[in-house]
Amino acid sequence: MEIQYVIINFLILVAIVVLAGRKTVKRIFGDRYERINKDLDKAEEIEKMPLPSSVLPTVEVAIDSCSEEIQKAEGLVAEKIAAIGAFREREKSEIHREMIENARRKLFSVMKENVINLFSYEKYQQEIRALDRLVIDEILKRISLTPGDMAYLKHHDVLYVTLTSAYPLAEDIVSDVDRVTSQLLESVGGKTSLWVLEDSNLIGGLRLRIGDTVYDGTIAEELYQFEKSLNHEPIMNDDTVGHLIQEFTVKAESFKPHIHKYQLGRVMTVSDGICWMDGLADIMYGEVVEFECGEKGMVLDIQQNRIGCVIFGEFEHIESGSRVRRVGRIASVPVGECLLGRVVDALGNPIDAMGYLPYKETRPIEYKAPGILDRAPVNSPLHTGIKAIDALVPIGKGQRELIIGDRQTGKTAIAIDTIINQKGKDTVCIYVAIGQKDTLVAEIKEKLEAHGAMEYTTIIAVPASASAALQYIAPFSGSAMAEYFMYAGRDVLIVYDDLSKHAVAYRELSLLLHRPSGREAYPGDIFYLHSRLLERAAHLSDELGGGSITALPIIETLAGDISAYIPTNVISITDGQIFLDAELFNEGQRPAVNVGLSVSRVGGAAQSPSMKKVSSSLRTRLAQYRELAEFMQFGSDIDEETKKTLASGQLLTEALRQPRYAPVEDSMQTILIFAVSEGYADGISPDQMEKFEKDLYRYFREEKADIALKLREARKFDGELKALLKEALEEFAERL
Ligand code: ATP
Ligand code: MG
Repeated sequence: MEIQYVIINFLILVAIVVLAGRKTVKRIFGDRYERINKDLDKAEEIEKMPLPSSVLPTVEVAIDSCSEEIQKAEGLVAEKIAAIGAFREREKSEIHREMIENARRKLFSVMKENVINLFSYEKYQQEIRALDRLVIDEILKRISLTPGDMAYLKHHDVLYVTLTSAYPLAEDIVSDVDRVTSQLLESVGGKTSLWVLEDSNLIGGLRLRIGDTVYDGTIAEELYQFEKSLNHEPIMNDDTVGHLIQEFTVKAESFKPHIHKYQLGRVMTVSDGICWMDGLADIMYGEVVEFECGEKGMVLDIQQNRIGCVIFGEFEHIESGSRVRRVGRIASVPVGECLLGRVVDALGNPIDAMGYLPYKETRPIEYKAPGILDRAPVNSPLHTGIKAIDALVPIGKGQRELIIGDRQTGKTAIAIDTIINQKGKDTVCIYVAIGQKDTLVAEIKEKLEAHGAMEYTTIIAVPASASAALQYIAPFSGSAMAEYFMYAGRDVLIVYDDLSKHAVAYRELSLLLHRPSGREAYPGDIFYLHSRLLERAAHLSDELGGGSITALPIIETLAGDISAYIPTNVISITDGQIFLDAELFNEGQRPAVNVGLSVSRVGGAAQSPSMKKVSSSLRTRLAQYRELAEFMQFGSDIDEETKKTLASGQLLTEALRQPRYAPVEDSMQTILIFAVSEGYADGISPDQMEKFEKDLYRYFREEKADIALKLREARKFDGELKALLKEALEEFAERL
């Protein structure tokens, strides 16, 4: 018996050896499967099949007997090497990588062909078929009923058992399977119905399916697992064919055939990126499934008789009736330092023509938000560099501050300026572009690069043309990438641009999944969706490393209507909002922050003491000014007092103007606001404000750098510091 198994085993090895050009290959492919399945529930654990260990002598014999084929294949490899070598002379890394990747794929397909050929040799037939006995014994040892099967048996009497093999099976095997499975079912009061099928695609070995669970001991499955492990491993360090062959050899050396256990389902219907399936008895919500054509999907709906999933790729390739397989993990994305400076899609695949992402870790896209005890209060500032925000609606690390406004009111501009202002502040930035135009994302990337901000930033770009499923998971993917840094003790800024489009994508999915729609046709759980996303932003306690995620979600309103469904939802979830006013924007006030409607509920605690003191009366003064200004449009008789209020209000408004990509540091902002509100700019006209501001900054940077430093570090903005500042400002005012 043993020798037969040995033979079938080495046949695969031969194919590998033929291609790899190595003689001492012991075992093929396998250990990565463990890693992929790590997160799977216990029922899915793969047990290894014990295998006779010494196969070496037979490999030697086999190589001799196949020498002709070895020569042929070696010639093929040499040809490929030559072709790639020549290519390398001309082209640089990117094309080269692609070439190597193709070569690897080809290498695999030739290997596969060889395996199939070898298995069809007449002289091995008998040995191969004798293997069936070994495989089935192993399978019968480990069959069990899953919770899904038990649930099925509650409503049905019969559980279907299918036995599929590449070649006709011996009768005793079939009767054994029938006996053991019937016993298993009887023990829980059910019955079996055994189907015996033949499928030459399996190449060799056999497969037993009980309910939805498959115990697979076929060569086809081994090849599938091998191919998958290859696809999962990008070529990184060494892009030569030598390395490629080495890689093959290493994998071949760690080969050990398994009985693979997985669950299958069947596609019932596919439409508009949604797929309904049956089977997959033990599937979890959010789990990834893989279709026969290679596309992947994520389960979003589990009903009694069917399972709904969204498809990430192109659903046109999926046929109804085709098989679906549980991948055994919740949807996850690559995380780590390697993502910085990159543009990726919602699944973390690079889309910036900078080659592979050399990631080592992944994180699930849905993750539990830190609990109350895991959090620390928001206490350190996250400067945006924008005067109107840092002074009036300060943001702290770990806060969630909404940017809300009509279309084209400068929402994205604020987020991008904030990212640019994080330069040198050891904050990682993640910009999630949902449903934006590709050109806009390209422009943003260019700007970030120009300001040296791309090196600490990751862009997740899901264009409007991408499927609703990808748009839906994009912010969660971003959040997973951010969490990696937060739990490593770093500070992260994440921008969701924008969540209105995200809500629309989710509405589309929900309607396609036939969920009842609620207000504005959005599904009832849209609030939960956004709150579980934004709740993941936090400032962690010191015990957990003290990292933070600051979230800046963006919401687009229609005609300033902040009482629509999605805006009210997100307003109530976040710790404040920056309201951008279309009217102000059209008047030329940039950034068009509406002071009256903007608040920051926790950021005040993180503001520097000097700024806090200086800006304390700013809000009321500005509000007073706007009210008076509106009123004054109708009247002409103005008393002196009102005139003064109007003039100073106008100067203040003017001082808060700021162009894009021009962040101002906190101490300079403090000085400017202090100077204007204390009347040091009273003599100038509003259009001279820009020059005043520039001169003031220059003066304090070049001549009074010590005051700026004191302002930054002072724990209190007291009389002494104030006097110092006043003195300097008087000196400055004299020069005007
Ligand atoms: P959309 O609704 O299309 O996403 P948005 O609200 O994100 O728009 P932006 O794209 O940021 O708005 O800005 C709209 C326009 O306003 C852009 O042309 C931008 O350059 C300009 N803009 C925004 N902020 C400023 C600023 N501070 N100074 C000058 N121009 C600005
Ligand atoms: Mg925008």
